[in-house]
Amino acid sequence: MLRTPLGRATLRRAPLQQHRQLTAPPDAAARRAAPPVICYQVENLPSYDAALYAEMRERLDVVDSVVVPPRDGRAFEVPKGHFFRVVCAEGAQVGDLNLWRRGHLAERFYSGKTRQLHASHVTTGDRLWSCMPYMRPLATITHDTLGWYGVDDDGASIHDVIGTRCDPYTNAVLRGVDYDNCCHSNLTRALAAHEGLAPEEAELHVHDVLNVFMATGFDKDHRYFMKASPARAGDYIEFFAEVDLLGALSACPGGDCSASHSDDATACYPLRVDVLAPHADDLARWTGSPAVSSYAGGHGLRTP
Ligand SMILES: [Zn+2]
Repeated sequence: MLRTPLGRATLRRAPLQQHRQLTAPPDAAARRAAPPVICYQVENLPSYDAALYAEMRERLDVVDSVVVPPRDGRAFEVPKGHFFRVVCAEGAQVGDLNLWRRGHLAERFYSGKTRQLHASHVTTGDRLWSCMPYMRPLATITHDTLGWYGVDDDGASIHDVIGTRCDPYTNAVLRGVDYDNCCHSNLTRALAAHEGLAPEEAELHVHDVLNVFMATGFDKDHRYFMKASPARAGDYIEFFAEVDLLGALSACPGGDCSASHSDDATACYPLRVDVLAPHADDLARWTGSPAVSSYAGGHGLRTP
């Protein structure tokens, strides 16, 4: 028996049009005609030095490899100046990725700002930014074997920074059951084991993710949807560690996310994280970790 205290009908969102006031003002067309403006001055972002990363990619040695079992999570470390790849090891499988600066969990991946600075879905050349008050690239995407996918006829694309992570709390609200292998819990267990933290403390450091290999978009009513991941065994997305990184990856219980998540209904496969070292001569051209934001931190509370 599902526990639905508010009743399913009230929980389900009506089509967008039903929420709107149907009588438009006389100048509705003029109001809608305002031109869209890109919110951020993205031309001022640090440029992507494709030649530098391409040169380093020529000579890479695998120095570590971590297998993430299905419906589970694992943590991994990547020294700055190294690369790491999230590899679809055996079959179509979505992964939920968290990143922190190693030894300093307060600086962590900021999916919302990454979305605003780049796009709802990220690929080669995009950065994964850290949270305030740091605000710098933690990692740069240097290769994406699904870069060919683009945007499909449903408006879906790959590797989104829209979705948060499947979690047991929302699942309990929607379905009235406890399920312990959502990505939130998988990431919590992975971080707790790696850092020697109590689960309730580790959980507080788990944050909104990069949905690796996931195909997502918004429908015509702006509702978030997913569809079968196009990833196949051997596909990977590759990152350059701009700072010393601690990562955690969950192999989502939704498998390829073609049907459901937060349950054991779908086939689920392992993921693998490979850590790769460039040749020292190639790395010598890299200028080092990016500086944190130069904002002085006054917040209007300090007099000049
Ligand atoms: Zn998940």
